[in-house]
Amino acid sequence: MNIVNPATEEIITTVKEDDSKSLSHKRNLLKMGQKNWAAKTLQERRAVIAKFYELLGVEREQLAAVLTSEVGKPLQQSRNEINGARNRISWMLDHVEQYLSDEQVTDADGLKEQVSYEPLGVICNISAWNYPYLVGVNVFIPALLAGNAVMYKPSEYATLTGQEIDRLLKQAGLPEDVFKMAIGGKETGEHLLDMNFDGYFFTGSYKTGKHIYERVAPKMVPCQLELGGKDPLYVADDVKDINAVAAATADGAFYNNGQSCCAVERIYVHEKVYDDYIAAFVNEVKSWKMGPPTQDGVYIGALTRKEQLDVLERQVKEAQENGAVLLAGGKRIAGQGYYFEPTVLTQVTNHMKLMQEESFGPIIGIMKVNDDAEATYLMQDTAYGLTASVYSASMERAKQILKQIDSGTGYWNCCDRVSAGLPWSGRRHSGIGSTLSHQGLRAFTKTKAWHLKS
Ligand code: NAD
Repeated sequence: MNIVNPATEEIITTVKEDDSKSLSHKRNLLKMGQKNWAAKTLQERRAVIAKFYELLGVEREQLAAVLTSEVGKPLQQSRNEINGARNRISWMLDHVEQYLSDEQVTDADGLKEQVSYEPLGVICNISAWNYPYLVGVNVFIPALLAGNAVMYKPSEYATLTGQEIDRLLKQAGLPEDVFKMAIGGKETGEHLLDMNFDGYFFTGSYKTGKHIYERVAPKMVPCQLELGGKDPLYVADDVKDINAVAAATADGAFYNNGQSCCAVERIYVHEKVYDDYIAAFVNEVKSWKMGPPTQDGVYIGALTRKEQLDVLERQVKEAQENGAVLLAGGKRIAGQGYYFEPTVLTQVTNHMKLMQEESFGPIIGIMKVNDDAEATYLMQDTAYGLTASVYSASMERAKQILKQIDSGTGYWNCCDRVSAGLPWSGRRHSGIGSTLSHQGLRAFTKTKAWHLKS
């Protein structure tokens, strides 16, 4: 399998894909390794992950360069991602004892009732490329802390980063047979679905997630899905600083070239502040530097996948054919590399693909609304349910709207953010189950209820 640099289209290297035989062999090793790993104390497992955390810091520059070379995001955003992953690991290290230790529920009249958290066994993690450190860490760190072994399939677009993760985990002292990589794309993923694991944890698109859910169902093991979104944002008429709101929300839509599961994908603006917002928003978008992701000051780098250029072009074309007005960008850049201009469209309607299908690129549709009721109705008009955001001077007003939106996350005066202490979960087409927080630590365990009578 060729690993291609999306900024230059050069082949960086070639790797050997796994086949069903090599994967079976790896899974058998993991099965044996898991028993010894689970027999270690939580403190021993914690020490290995703490070392991994340290190594990510020591090697950050080199790791960021590798990440940028295969996904095309600006170097600074690669550094930010590694810093963010370390913050999440740090939270998990600080809280794992609290949430995975045995719990005493009752102790009276000769009866003790307790809960303990046992590892699932050997779990399979099929992962995405857009934030390989962040979405990887959400799964394999709590899984390992809980005493599981992990078959980790990085995306075929983030294979080199997967190899770095594997190397650093082993360097941190993780036994060889507790973490194995499955190298390859869809076919490799299918082999993993043919096999039997004790749990499947997937990050990726709705289409693949639905397929995986159906394939895993007969196995009767946990299957957790972190999928895409079409996340809405509403700017109410009482916002104080429209320039600051425009800059923050533009970043929420375009950071990482819009290739974030929780990127702002639709914007609704109250008619009273609409004109000022649009002027400030377009101004902000036009101020960004676009270019090679290794160059200083670049905010818009290359897209990771070539095919997405067609998706974006189709969305822009369909929107324009139906009356949308283009205020910035609108097309791919000719030449080497997968570049698309940051694109702003107004006069859009919710029926357009631009407002219904995940764009996963540097384009946004902005729509004028009359009041909170119309904004709420339009925000909720989606099959997805990852996040939703309201900018307003009033928290009560924002919460009133967000309570009516069926999404796993609600933001007031912020967007496109994830916190290690809060459950990260999608609803409907955005997924099933949670990572992060106490729920995410326990997602890789099965509970045992103890009734102990003396
Ligand atoms: P994708 O669905 O194309 O691929 C994800 C993974 O599934 C890859 O490793 C791929 O090789 C594998 N795969 C593909 N077909 C398969 C099959 N038939 N059987 C088994 N495995 C298969 O998604 P992607 O392009 O890597 O990631 C982008 C998507 O991920 C977006 O929709 C984004 O919103 C979503 N995402 C969600 C979250 C979240 O936390 N909710 C985080 C990051 C990304």
